[in-house]
Amino acid sequence: MNIFPKRIENLCDEIIGRILALMKVNSVSEVILTDNDNPVYVIWFDKMGDPCECSVHKVTAVGKGITLEVHDKITGENYKVTSRHEAALANPVWLNEILEAITNTFRIKNTGLEENVICCKCGGNHVICNAFINPNTKQFYNYDDESFLYGWCEKCDNYTILCDIEAVKNDIENGFKRFVETYGRKPELAECEIIWKDSLNTEYVNIAITDIPEEYDNTIFFYCKSLSDLKSLADYGKEDFIVTGCINFTDLGNKA
Ligand SMILES: [Zn+2]
Repeated sequence: MNIFPKRIENLCDEIIGRILALMKVNSVSEVILTDNDNPVYVIWFDKMGDPCECSVHKVTAVGKGITLEVHDKITGENYKVTSRHEAALANPVWLNEILEAITNTFRIKNTGLEENVICCKCGGNHVICNAFINPNTKQFYNYDDESFLYGWCEKCDNYTILCDIEAVKNDIENGFKRFVETYGRKPELAECEIIWKDSLNTEYVNIAITDIPEEYDNTIFFYCKSLSDLKSLADYGKEDFIVTGCINFTDLGNKA
């Protein structure tokens, strides 16, 4: 028995699963491939069975599969590839090229926008998290929020704890606003979760966000001058630790 047709089909399913997963995490159901310098070429066969060389213009997610819109290289005419048995969707080499083109499209789009999740050890953002994959089809199924707390860091070459620095800064900002709205004044302390870069141990500490008398020194872990100072501690900066969460804003009176 020839086992290769099934294996080729599985490989195609796996690549299509990756393409669908990429689209899902980027919240889109279609991708236009605009890289005109480096198009993906496929062969499309017309009704007579004659081959036309086409570039892939659009990839659309349809249920558990994808469809393609391709442009004839010579006439410029558009064709749709909807059946997975058509050559353009049955060839793992072409599918892989489509996957790479889509990956590049998202990489360009995301640059500077969504690279907020960092490795707490090195500050790098080449990190990978677990997701749920259907083991039969290899299709991406889902992920939960917990998935983003831990991951693999390519720079450290190890498992690590992750932190979404923009989310932490938003938490700090919102907590501060709530305090001011409730009490009509600014808080003196922020109760924060920090992580030590070297050991990746977490700790709960008080950070001052205003000038505080010396007698309180032993309850204060770190002194900031302002809210923006505190927010900057969520960045991977020069300190040995990063602020990874803000539990509460409060006053010295509640700590004495
Ligand atoms: Zn790292």
